[in-house]
Amino acid sequence: MKLINPANETVIGELVFDTAESIRYKLEKAKTAFEANKKTNLLERIEWVKKYKQNILDHIDDLALTLTQDMGKPLSQSYGEIKGSLARLDFFIDESAKYLNVEMVNESQTHMESISYEPLGVVVNISAWNFPYNIGFNVFVPALIAGNAVLYKPSEYTAKTGDKMIELLLESGVPEDLIQVIHGDGSVGSALLELEIDGVFFTGSYLTGQKIYEQVAKKMIPCQLELGGKDPFYVSADNKKLESVVDSAIEGVFWNNGQSCCAVERIYVHSSLYDSFVDLFVDKAKSLVLGDPLDDNTFIGPLARKEQIKVIQIQVNDAIEKGANLLLGGKVAERSGYYYLPTVISDTNHNMLIMKEESFGPIIGIQKVSSDEEAISLMRDTEYGLSSAVFSDSYESAKPILDAMNSGTVYWNCCDRVSPYTPWSGRKNSGIGSTLSYLGIRAFAQPKSYQIRKI
Ligand code: NAD
Repeated sequence: MKLINPANETVIGELVFDTAESIRYKLEKAKTAFEANKKTNLLERIEWVKKYKQNILDHIDDLALTLTQDMGKPLSQSYGEIKGSLARLDFFIDESAKYLNVEMVNESQTHMESISYEPLGVVVNISAWNFPYNIGFNVFVPALIAGNAVLYKPSEYTAKTGDKMIELLLESGVPEDLIQVIHGDGSVGSALLELEIDGVFFTGSYLTGQKIYEQVAKKMIPCQLELGGKDPFYVSADNKKLESVVDSAIEGVFWNNGQSCCAVERIYVHSSLYDSFVDLFVDKAKSLVLGDPLDDNTFIGPLARKEQIKVIQIQVNDAIEKGANLLLGGKVAERSGYYYLPTVISDTNHNMLIMKEESFGPIIGIQKVSSDEEAISLMRDTEYGLSSAVFSDSYESAKPILDAMNSGTVYWNCCDRVSPYTPWSGRKNSGIGSTLSYLGIRAFAQPKSYQIRKI
């Protein structure tokens, strides 16, 4: 496959896909490494991650540039992702032992009872391209700390980044063969799932997640899926600092060109603030600088994949045909590369695709609501359940709305953020299982109960 820089459509390399034979070979190597790795202890494995963190920092300029060339993320945001992802390494360094060491849970006159956390074995990690550091670290780092071997398939759109991430991991002390990079597209990913493996950890779209879940079901192994979202953002009537609410919304919608699983994908505004919100939002969206992702000023780079332009255009056309108002953008930018103009559409409703289907691009629909109850009902009207944000002056008025959301994460006066301390998990079509937090440490281990009778 030719690797294309989405900012200028030049070929930056060629990706040689793994074959059925090379995949089997890598699996055998990983299995042998897994057995040998049983000699290491938890603290040694945590040391690898400490060195990895330093290694990433030492190479950050090269890593950020590679990420930008791979998928078009503005360079400043590539640095932002890599630096931000180090907080996840810190979390695993600090917290893993607490959740993986043997736990004595009960002692009676007759028995001692404890739980040990054993690795799953060789696990497969199939990854998306939009935040390769964040979503890679969510999986292969805790998997290795828990004692597993990993077959890591980066997205074919960030293959060079994937190679560099794993090279640095191996230079940090992780034994050769314990983590193997597998390259290829969906067919290679699917072939991986046919192997004799012990767990699957996937980040990507709902449609692929569904296929993977079906394919893996017969194996009776853990299968975690972190999938897409259609995340709502509600501005209630009691907001006094509208400008800062709009700033949050702009960042939530347009950061990484809208290509975030938890990007703000639909906005609801109380009728009393609707016109002022829309005017301010359009003004600020107009000032976003679209350009070469290597320029410091650029906030909107190209989309990572050319095919996404069609998806976005269908949603925009559909909204306009059904009576929404196009206030900004609505078409590709006239330059080479996969650029789409920041697009704002008001007066939307739930008959429109833009309010129902994941957009994964720099477009947003804004809808007027007349009450918190109406906002709750619209926010819940989705097949996804990743995150939901409420902006209001009073937490008391926001709390019932947050409680009513059927999503893995709720935000009050913030959005589009992930903390290593809380579980990252989707409901409904947004996925199954959790990464991050103590749940995302334990996800890579299987508990064994020891019930020991006293003599
Ligand atoms: P995608 O589903 O197209 O691909 C993801 C990965 O799956 C790639 O490595 C791809 O090669 C592989 N793949 C494709 N078909 C496969 C198959 N049949 N069997 C096995 N592997 C297969 O998704 P994408 O375009 O890379 O990523 C964008 C999607 O990821 C968006 O929907 C986004 O919301 C989601 N995402 C979710 C999270 C989260 O944490 N919930 C984080 C990042 C991205």
